[in-house]
Amino acid sequence: MTREVVWDRGVSLPGHRLWLDPLVVRSFAFISHAHTDHARRHKEALLTPQTLALIPEARRPRGWRMLGFGEPMRRGDGRVTLYPAGHMLGSAQLHFEHDGTSVLYTGDIKLRQPGGVPPTFVPKADILILESTYGRPHFRFGDPDSTVEAIARWCRLALDSRVTPVLLCHALGKTEEMMLALAPYGFEFALEKRCVSCARDYAAAGRPLPGWVEFNGDPIAGRVLIAPPVGKDEIRRLGRYRTALVSGWAKDAEFARLFGADATFDLSDHCDFDELIEVVERSGADQVYTVHGYTEDFARFLRRKGIRAWALEANEQLALAL
Ligand SMILES: [Zn+2]
Repeated sequence: MTREVVWDRGVSLPGHRLWLDPLVVRSFAFISHAHTDHARRHKEALLTPQTLALIPEARRPRGWRMLGFGEPMRRGDGRVTLYPAGHMLGSAQLHFEHDGTSVLYTGDIKLRQPGGVPPTFVPKADILILESTYGRPHFRFGDPDSTVEAIARWCRLALDSRVTPVLLCHALGKTEEMMLALAPYGFEFALEKRCVSCARDYAAAGRPLPGWVEFNGDPIAGRVLIAPPVGKDEIRRLGRYRTALVSGWAKDAEFARLFGADATFDLSDHCDFDELIEVVERSGADQVYTVHGYTEDFARFLRRKGIRAWALEANEQLALAL
């Protein structure tokens, strides 16, 4: 029974009435992290306290069961344990054990971390359900610390030339982690309005941020501006500015070109191709299901290596992880 994993508008362990990041409202569901593609108003949601704090009021589940990392919880005659996923504040992997068999659902996951933080731990499991956003071999990212240093240099060069450096980052998670990574370089920040509530929530959920002001169109000399990648209208009022896309999609020449940023940096909160392989190896799983992004490609690659692997979603979706 435990080995049965299906796609039912979200990952489902049907034998255990357990849905993992379902796309429709369920009576009981795990929400791996606070990004809007995962949060739904479930009757009861299993999540970490940080994830609950980061989900906007309108998307909050109606009831919840908060669970900290490493605290086992009974679910029927099985056992659930959450582990950090390294994707954003509160993001969790779910480990489920039942009758001598274990399943690991990674949710959105990132192994390598900048700033001397150890890589994300991957628990052992028989069955792995893996988020495979960047499951093609051209997605190989540089060392996060070197990339942060390159971003800092790029920002400093712009500021020295009296040009505003604009980092295009997803508002929730990426913006705040970018600020924290750049803080040791002594920058001051301005945030575009869509990043403002996310930054406030992040700080309130337990991760204090370096000082920032809200960008309201007035000049912000000497500051690094962070804005979401889509809709750059506000930024155009700045006059002299330079933009950099900070995303794993920097590795996709076509996408980067379409995007039209002046520079790109391949700093991502998702695993690159090699990290995905590492998750599979470290889990020790002999059965792998892929979800999100290049699911078919990555499953095919694993099968060639002799691992039983399938894309779980019926239709491959290209989930732009911005
Ligand atoms: Zn995410």
